[in-house]
Amino acid sequence: MRPRVGATAWRSFDRRDQRAIRARLAAGAPLRCPRCAGLLEARPTSRLLAVLPSGARGYDLDCRSCHQFLPLIEHTPQSLRLLRLRRLVAAVRRA
Ligand SMILES: [Zn+2]
Repeated sequence: MRPRVGATAWRSFDRRDQRAIRARLAAGAPLRCPRCAGLLEARPTSRLLAVLPSGARGYDLDCRSCHQFLPLIEHTPQSLRLLRLRRLVAAVRRA
């Protein structure tokens, strides 16, 4: 995802920051923002769910001060299949 213009726009952490947060998550360490060291807040649903096939579940970890989030998505076999189909359709349309 490309950064959007405007200070209030939420965007996802870049790949390196996402890795850092996931490592903390796996280690059971307190979840802090790699940029400002503030505590991350879990949202009950993910912003990405609106664009994902039904069946997928997930939530975001937000940093309020940086306006960045980490989407944590859980797919079911069905939602994965739908996602692949959708990508295939998009590829065909581009061709
Ligand atoms: Zn932050």
